[in-house]
Amino acid sequence: MSTKYRIAVGGLSHETNSFSPVPTVYEDFNKIRGEELLNQRLCGYTHAGIELIPSIYADATLGGLISKSAFTQLKEELLQEIASALPLDGVYLDLHGAMEVEEIGDAEGDLATEVRKLVGPEAIIAVSLDLHGNISPELVGNSNILTAYRTAPHRDRIETRHRALNLLAQALESNLKPVSVLIKPPIILAGESVVTEREPARSLYGKLSEIDKIPGIMDSSFLVGCAWTDSVNTSASVIVVAEKDRDLAHREAVKFAQTVWGQRHDFNYGVETGTIEESVQAAIDSSQVPVFISDSGDNVTAGAPGDRTGFLEHLLAVGARRALIAGLNDSEAVKQCASAGVGAEVKLSLGNKISSRDNGPLMITGRVSKLIAEVRGNGQEPTIALVKCGEVSLIITVDNRPFTDRKTIEAAGINPMKQNIVVVKQGYLFPDLQDNAPRSIMGLSPGSTDLDLMRLQYNKLIRPIFPIDKETEYS
Ligand SMILES: [Zn+2]
Repeated sequence: MSTKYRIAVGGLSHETNSFSPVPTVYEDFNKIRGEELLNQRLCGYTHAGIELIPSIYADATLGGLISKSAFTQLKEELLQEIASALPLDGVYLDLHGAMEVEEIGDAEGDLATEVRKLVGPEAIIAVSLDLHGNISPELVGNSNILTAYRTAPHRDRIETRHRALNLLAQALESNLKPVSVLIKPPIILAGESVVTEREPARSLYGKLSEIDKIPGIMDSSFLVGCAWTDSVNTSASVIVVAEKDRDLAHREAVKFAQTVWGQRHDFNYGVETGTIEESVQAAIDSSQVPVFISDSGDNVTAGAPGDRTGFLEHLLAVGARRALIAGLNDSEAVKQCASAGVGAEVKLSLGNKISSRDNGPLMITGRVSKLIAEVRGNGQEPTIALVKCGEVSLIITVDNRPFTDRKTIEAAGINPMKQNIVVVKQGYLFPDLQDNAPRSIMGLSPGSTDLDLMRLQYNKLIRPIFPIDKETEYS
């Protein structure tokens, strides 16, 4: 009977938006272990030649910089579990790539370095990544195999994790010691400008499977990076994994990076865009309604606080009719509405308490038209308040939750399809809204998920980098 190769499975994942003022702490992470980990993350993956030994997988929803103590504690827990599984032939790490930690910086590089120390130079380390990862030389230098998603929006999460495990099994069974090469062209891309169903991303991602077919190459990845993580590793990345020939991997990675560079001017949003003022005016003038506008600078699905009032202020100023803001994060305002009660008039000092403190809250007067106490709260105190402020309706929530489909908005007490203008705090509209919006506009608003990268205050980003530094050269 042949013995199986022993592979430890674990991971840590977070897409860090370092422009968000809200830090990510230990309690924000959800941990899974054992069979639950294998089932949830790997959908019960099996391979005849390998035995998977689950350790810990922890992740948190997108948000601000991870506290040093949170990362250190999570890393120690993961390392202890891996240590207790020794001896190991390999480790599979389920990571994101854009985790940034207070004082430490690059989480994935730090973790991979420690895992390598623990398992020794002979074990094969395979890593799967989100294509929004900002990849460090430390991560690549301490891993043998790295592979990333090939779709945005992501449709190949499970497939990518399985590919990492298949490559790991293949390396062990064929007695290979794969080498990965990282090339980083000096370019940062706003996530919303890279959708793999559209050009130029579609063709670029299509080329990866051709690289994979080259004899001696095992896998290739193109990571667009996360522009909202301010780190020394923030940029696009190309990774090529070879069976053993580093030069071959290097040549192919460079060639691909040059292709990306050659197309740097071609990335685009593919939808109508405008400033807050332009988007609102276009929506008021539109014969197709409702017009869905993304408040993309305060995109809660990308980790923004969701409390900026720029659109609300402008809608009120121009006297927009049948307009809806879905939603706005302000727990104090919800509380105030709750104590006033349905039907009561309220004077609210609203929003801008977490982000854009320089602006200060917006003073509004409105009428509470609905209060909702959800099960996700304690079921007693309202977590959502619907407030009418003249012709503008406003869904106020106790947290930075997304309203990504019609049902969720309707559950807050208002039918979005009966409005003229609906402002949502996301970037690209999520499928249900996209499919049902007669017209949509990407509002290029300021905030911690600003698509105008020139407006963000980077401190760690390595310059020059395109498109911030227009004259950036790359050869
Ligand atoms: Zn992603």
